[in-house]
Order: sequence, then C-alpha cells, then structure tokens
Amino acid sequence: APVNYDVVVVGTGGAGLAAAIQAHDDGARVVIIEKMPTIGGNTIKASVGMNAAETRYQKLKGIEDSKELFYEETLKGGKFKNNPVLLREFVEQAPEAIEWLAAKEIELCDITITGGMSIDRTHRPEDRSAVGGFLISGLVKNVNQRNIEVLLETSVAEILVENGAVTGVKVVDEYNDSRIINAKSVIVATGGFSANREMVVKYRPELDGFVTTNHKGATGSGIAMLQHIGADTVDMGEIQIHPTVEQTTSYLISEAMRGGGAILVSQAGKRFYNEMETRDKVSAEIIALPEKSAWIVFDEQVRANNKAADEYIAKGFVISAPTPHELAVKLNMDQEALQTTLGRYNEFVAKQDDEDFGRKTALRHPLNKGPYFAIRIAPGVHHTMGGVTINTDTAVLDAQKAVIPGAWGAGEVVGGIHGANRIGGNAVADIIIFGIKAGHNAAKLALGH
Ligand code: ADP
Repeated sequence: APVNYDVVVVGTGGAGLAAAIQAHDDGARVVIIEKMPTIGGNTIKASVGMNAAETRYQKLKGIEDSKELFYEETLKGGKFKNNPVLLREFVEQAPEAIEWLAAKEIELCDITITGGMSIDRTHRPEDRSAVGGFLISGLVKNVNQRNIEVLLETSVAEILVENGAVTGVKVVDEYNDSRIINAKSVIVATGGFSANREMVVKYRPELDGFVTTNHKGATGSGIAMLQHIGADTVDMGEIQIHPTVEQTTSYLISEAMRGGGAILVSQAGKRFYNEMETRDKVSAEIIALPEKSAWIVFDEQVRANNKAADEYIAKGFVISAPTPHELAVKLNMDQEALQTTLGRYNEFVAKQDDEDFGRKTALRHPLNKGPYFAIRIAPGVHHTMGGVTINTDTAVLDAQKAVIPGAWGAGEVVGGIHGANRIGGNAVADIIIFGIKAGHNAAKLALGH
C-alpha cells in the first residue's frame, strides 16, 4: 500500500540531509531515501571545507573579504560559464548557511584557502580535520534528534508525475520489492556521476582510464530520473579532474595540504606550476609531465598544521626522511635538484614573491623543518559540474525553463553554479546553501503555504 509524506528526500549527502532538516523544521512530514547501506554519500569524503565570504568567523579573525570578490573569483575559476543568477544567490546565502550549521552545533570556525582564491574563506572544523565526516556526523545527529525517517538500501527508481506535477516516487528496497511513496514534493539530492565511467566517457572520451575519488553511489541516477520527467540539463561535459589523487587507492589528497604550504615537485625535482591555481589548470600541468604524475612535498610545519597529513601517513601514502637530501634518495630524484627547488621556494616565501610561477597565496612558511614528506599523486575524476537546471528556489526546470511542480534539485545533481571548473570548498557551500533552500521550498509547496 502506498505511504504518504509531504516531502521525499532522495540521497543522504549534505544536500539531502540539510534539505530534510529544514523541511522538517518547517513542519513537513519528511522521509529520506538512500540507495547505499550507509549515510553520507560523497559528501562524507569532502576534505577541505566550505567557502563563504563576509562571515562572522572571518570577522573574528580579522579577515577582510567581500561577497563581490567571492563572486568574481568563482566566476573566473569557472571560466565565466557559471549561471550568474544561481552564482549570485550562492554567494549571497553563504554566510547564512554557515550560521544555519552553527545553530545546529556544526561549527566551521577555522579558515583556510584553496586554489583560485585570494583570501582565506574556506571554513573548516576547529581541529582542522576534514570537513566531510564532521559535517555528516553533525547533520545525522540533527536528523536523529528530530526522528526523521531514513530508509537505507532503498533506491528511488522513478519520480511519479500526474497532470504535470510530481505525486511521489517509486522505490525499490534491498529485497527488490518495489512500492510507491506519495508526496507533493520530491527533493532530488543524488549527487553527481563521477563514478559512472560510461557516462563520464560519453561526455569526455579522453577521461577513459582515469581513477575517480568518488564513492560508488555517484552514478548520476537522479539526473536520468529527472530527465525522464522533462528536466533540462546544462554543462554535462564539464567534468573536474582533481590534481592530487593517490593512484593506488584513488584517495584524494586534500587541497588543504597546498593551502597549508605544500608544493608540487616533478620527478625531475623541480616545481613546475603555481600550486594554488585552479584544479583544471594544475591537473593539466601534471598530465603534461613525462610521468603524468608528481609529488606533493612538505615539511614538519605543514604536517603539524594539517590533521589530514597524519591520516595520509597512517594510510602509508607518505614517504618521509630527516633531510631533503635523504628524501630525494628515497624518491629516486636528483638530490641537487630538490635541494635547489626547496632553497629557491624558501627565498620566495621570505620575500612573499614567487618569481618562478607567481604563486600569490599560501606561501605560508619556508619548507626547512625536518622531517620532510612526499606523496605521489596524479589527477582523478572528482566532480561533475553539469546536471539538471534549477531556478533560485531550487525548482527543477524543463527545456522551456518552466518549473516542474514538486520537483526540487540540490547539490551536485544540479548544473550551472560552478561553470567549467569548481573551486575547492564550493561544493560543500553549494550543498548546504541549496539544500536548505530546497527543504524550505519543498515544505512550503507540500503544505500549501
Ligand atoms: P551531494 O554532495 O550533492 O549532497 P552526495 O554524493 O554527497 O551528494 O550524496 C548523494 C547521495 O544520493 C548518495 O549517498 C547516493 O548513494 C544517493 N543516491 C543516488 N542515487 C540514488 C537513488 N536513485 N535512490 C536513493 N539514493 C540515491
């Protein structure tokens, strides 16, 4: 027999959980549906943080930033392909989203930086740990406090529509039994398609053979379901490869390492590019090296300031040595070349001027305190910027830009916000900002307010 709710949320990443919490708090009866056996989607793997400008936490630290600059740098990073209306909304709502989290005891009060921005605006947990696990555990706590129902190992197979408006979903559980759930609002927060190799290669044949950093549920099923009910898509070929992925495990090495002062060095022992450029550009430079891979090199000071570094050491990714000389030997690298590279970089740090590659940010401190560390990295498929089209209410749009009543989209399933290249720290901002909005508007429609 069919079951009735006001709002069905599809997906337990950051977008889905934020949407569910907001819809519940607005008075809706909410159910969350997740196809995997665990909660958290790809969000749980998010590493660096959440971007926002003009926040309380920036002010506390004396960081002067502006929404306008955040907008301009995101647009530039996205090669001016971003949907300007969605991007404006994103930038405007970001500080409130930070406060929405803080009010739920999910405080992102430490601040760092990623590639393509000029000011520290990437908010992360106080202990500088990865943002994903912290965010998901905080959101799950809030979901549980509210007794919001979560169905795991249950896939939404179809979004049901009558007379042009959404009426519910058809779900299939782990025993392959299907049933109907009725709801006036369905929030699709199913994430991207980086783990769907066929779909990635369809849009970008040259990405065949690349590893992916994503969890295996990132298959793009939400995009297909929404297309089936008439949704339009945008930027489907815009697929981000992240420059620093450990290749034997497909594990992402956080941009926080470079943001904390690490450099990239080729097998020849040389820096080859501005490490703080956007992900697309850094990836392209690594692929252009003869080995198609490089080393992230850092010292004890960088390690001590980045919790993730110890995780990489524990996972066995890191080669370490007491001196640069001994590190070079272990990396099978020209010793003199690495010494020279470090010496030269340290001079640039001292004068805060990277004469070789114009790195302008995160010239944090000289790399001169042993032990020294290196991780071998190469690019991997990381984020799909394209997806379904929405308006600023998160209502899903058809090819005529008309709303499909009752269909809402938030998070990586949506296209347009990031243009041709997403800035590190903007995905977490995206899922929270638009997740809240989707929850609010979905509840409003379902409750007839
Ligand atoms: P976002 O970052 O946009 O919140 P995530 O990738 O973190 O997205 O989370 C999306 C979640 O949606 C994942 O946990 C994924 O397993 C789940 N999901 C994807 N497709 C379906 C589906 N058809 N039915 C139920 N859950 C789905």
